Amino acid sequence: MNFTRNQGSSKGQVAIIGGGPAGAITALALTRAGVSVVVIEREVRSEWKIGEGLPPAVKPILHKLELWERFLADGHLASYGNCSGWGSDKLVDHSFVFHPHGCGWHLDRNRFDQMLLNSAVEAGATLVLSAESENTMAADVVVDASGRNSWLARRQGARRINHDNLVGSAALLKVGNGVADQDSLTMVEAVADGWWYAALLPDQKLVVVFLSDADLEATRMARTAEGWLALLKQTKHLRNRVERHAYRIELEPRLVSANSSRLDVMAGESWLAVGDAAAAFDPLSSQGIITAMESGMLAAQAIQAKLVGQPEALNTYAQRMEKIFAAYLANRDFYYAQERRWPESKFWQRRHGAMI
Ligand SMILES: Cc1cc2nc3c(=O)[nH]c(=O)nc-3n(C[C@H](O)[C@H](O)[C@H](O)COP(=O)(O)OP(=O)(O)OC[C@H]3O[C@@H](n4cnc5c(N)ncnc54)[C@H](O)[C@@H]3O)c2cc1C
Repeated sequence: MNFTRNQGSSKGQVAIIGGGPAGAITALALTRAGVSVVVIEREVRSEWKIGEGLPPAVKPILHKLELWERFLADGHLASYGNCSGWGSDKLVDHSFVFHPHGCGWHLDRNRFDQMLLNSAVEAGATLVLSAESENTMAADVVVDASGRNSWLARRQGARRINHDNLVGSAALLKVGNGVADQDSLTMVEAVADGWWYAALLPDQKLVVVFLSDADLEATRMARTAEGWLALLKQTKHLRNRVERHAYRIELEPRLVSANSSRLDVMAGESWLAVGDAAAAFDPLSSQGIITAMESGMLAAQAIQAKLVGQPEALNTYAQRMEKIFAAYLANRDFYYAQERRWPESKFWQRRHGAMI
């Protein structure tokens, strides 16, 4: 896809590359403000998209977007907290019971992303389903919402800055003994070479992800179902849960990038990046989706300001995103600093400041 300057629509024309949460919310907010929007999405939704946990703080965001009722109607699974074996052998519950916005959620992720995108299209955005296209499109501003690959920003000369080398090896399990799993808490467990999380989905499948560094032996093992199951056996709490329900692998482990990274430049004269394309978070934070949505709302405001003659608006947006990422990094480091049980482990040494 190539882009030329728009000469047509008086309120402006915006092209958005990517129809995940960041792209969909940017499109929705701009379309509602009367801006003409085209979303270009390359993927027909696959059967399983990783990234399913929403914290309670999503409620005011969905309210603001007038999508809360629609979200509730979609049958996502309410989650009443987390339980974690982090920093000690004990599994500790962290309940959302006193959270001002109530429970968190485990998503049917494809349904959630589709709901956001449908909302943008119903508001008036044009959706183009396209693989690599040779077409040329006119636009005043182009938005990179392509996720971690930053498809557009890289073509503008921006580079990703990687703050670590974390990868996830994610598998989907199903109950094997008919004993339904009712536990909606997200389970997190630290181990010598990384950490695990497990989350029950609305269809009763269990997402289980092992996170470690790309270059470590544990990640090599986790590439096969056999190695992944051998690593799972070394856990204490997660293993109990898997055995209690005789969970079996339904979809074999698949390796995905999960590191903390950001673009060195998040906006240019007539483009900006939103969501993971701008800055991607460690799954430990459970903040990726809501940050993607919030960045879409901020980007829409910046683009509107740019379209009415405030050329510095995109740069101001980029500075805001840089601050959000810096605050996130400080939080991430705080959490990793709580786990001190494996002083010999490269994975943990790297997270405690060692350059190895
Ligand atoms: C293992 C793991 C677990 C996670 N767990 C959580 C969690 O529990 N909670 C949470 O909040 N976050 C989680 N995340 C992060 C979360 O999934 C992302 O932050 C979120 O999806 C970002 O949304 P996005 O719209 O920026 O990008 P994406 O969701 O990646 O959407 C990008 C879209 O762009 C499209 N695209 C890409 N390139 C092109 C192109 N060239 N042309 C057209 N379209 C293109 C893609 O098909 C896709 O639809 C997790 C991430 C990982 C890796």
